[in-house]
Amino acid sequence: MLFPTTIAGSLPKPEWLAEPNMLWAPWKSEGAELARAKRDATVLAVKLQEDAGVDIVTDGEQARQHFVHGFLERIEGIDFAHKVEMGIRKDRYKAMVPQVVAPLQLKGRVHEGEARAARAHTKNRLKFTLPGPMTIIDTIADQYYGDRVKMAFAFAELLNQEAKALQADGVDMIQFDEPAFNVYMDQVRDWGIKALERAAEGLTCATAVHICYGYGIKANTDWKETLGGEWRQYEETFPVIDKSTIQQVAIECRNSKVPIELLAALPGKIVQAGVIDVASDEVETPEDVVRVIEAVAKHVPKGNIIATTNCGMAPMRRDIAEAKLSALGAGAKLARQRLS
Ligand code: ZN
Repeated sequence: MLFPTTIAGSLPKPEWLAEPNMLWAPWKSEGAELARAKRDATVLAVKLQEDAGVDIVTDGEQARQHFVHGFLERIEGIDFAHKVEMGIRKDRYKAMVPQVVAPLQLKGRVHEGEARAARAHTKNRLKFTLPGPMTIIDTIADQYYGDRVKMAFAFAELLNQEAKALQADGVDMIQFDEPAFNVYMDQVRDWGIKALERAAEGLTCATAVHICYGYGIKANTDWKETLGGEWRQYEETFPVIDKSTIQQVAIECRNSKVPIELLAALPGKIVQAGVIDVASDEVETPEDVVRVIEAVAKHVPKGNIIATTNCGMAPMRRDIAEAKLSALGAGAKLARQRLS
């Protein structure tokens, strides 16, 4: 089947789980009650995707507060009690971040609960997202390793452990989120790809990397204004990624200033093309989706295209996110009819 659909990863959380319409939303309950609420929200997220025609579903990232820190919370060697201010993504925004203070190791499984809950309730293919090593070290302070690359590889090892366990849980695709790949292009070439390959080492399920220009939050939309009329960051990273062992690349295409012909630099990869804008509340029509798929198909073989959302939808209004999921499903279906 041409143009199977998926989503970048996250969906908004129901208001009985967490405060709506925000990143870092505080949970509404705790302990066993919170664990039940996370499980229920995960099952609901899977159902909403299935009904909208999403072929490769995710857990909607319902069980984590943030796409990076959801992973960090289960790691020993990190001090969350004494956060320090750090500039993130080359000072695009400031954040209070935890510090690495001792050798890193997993306390146990990180995402077992939501992976198994999702697996138990869908027959669709299941994708699971993890933060990439470069993005993690750009979101945490170091008081122990004294070498950010060494710290990145320490995280890559832990990511690899969890990724293998997720695969054993029945996950069909692991996607590493590396928005930092659009910011530190020289480091991607020097060590970023190698750290990512370490995180994916030995996996037999599908592997993907998601690079993007971020959620539709103000810090990101302001940054995008500074990038000029054409966003050519991918031009440097795609040839490096194309030579890597990672099989798929998820990038944003809808309402993006990325020159679409840059996708031709990924001849060996499956392209998850973002056909749904997450920085706008305007709901796409199926025709909008078809137009993006048609444009992508000029540079990527049709059989290598997966239709997805530009980025996560965590901070979005639920009704808008659901309408966008439906547009994604209906648009891909229409594209199949037209372009088969
Ligand atoms: Zn993204």
